[in-house]
Amino acid sequence: MKTVTLLDVDNTLLDNDAAKDALERRILAAVSEERAARFWSLYEDVRRERGVVDFPETLRRFHAIHPDASDRVDRAVLDMPYDRFLYPGALDAIAHLATLGTPVILSDGDRRYQPRKIERSGLAAAVRGNVIVTDHKAERLDEVLRRFPADHYVLIDDKAAILAEVKRRLDGRVTTVHVLQGHYAGEPPDGPAPDVVVQRIGDLADLPADRLVP
Ligand SMILES: [Mg+2]
Repeated sequence: MKTVTLLDVDNTLLDNDAAKDALERRILAAVSEERAARFWSLYEDVRRERGVVDFPETLRRFHAIHPDASDRVDRAVLDMPYDRFLYPGALDAIAHLATLGTPVILSDGDRRYQPRKIERSGLAAAVRGNVIVTDHKAERLDEVLRRFPADHYVLIDDKAAILAEVKRRLDGRVTTVHVLQGHYAGEPPDGPAPDVVVQRIGDLADLPADRLVP
């Protein structure tokens, strides 16, 4: 039986809440407090319009408003050391999952910055380049299944709603794993409950295979 494991990135493998705090400090070090506030309000505008975070578009709008701004703000954003924000045991979890099937990163985000972040964090290498970046992963499921055909899927995410939606679609062919990390972890599941709940991604490193694969 062929198994594919679909792993989320933000707040699943990588502590994105902590990374965002660090990025806020980096931006404050690069521009005035007023411009930093403007940057984050543009970030929220873009996120609302596009449904995903998009730093390149946020930077474009920032420079359109402040044509005199140097590229220090770009460096603050583009050179984020994401490898420092992996959760403890994240790479061990991927190594364990690789013994059960093919690990694939399935992450929502923009098509430019998010792949770069996955690269810089070391996660792209950990999954041998098997990375899909999409908007609204649950809506793009057919594409994912076509690209990585399998008899069984394991879906690992910090958002209960995504797990529930995929479980409804792939019932019987998917094991859903809720990782209770980050600020979305407390949002109540809307639909079928996850099959497995872990407190930390590192807990997956020694989870028996029969909890994940039938
Ligand atoms: Mg996430």
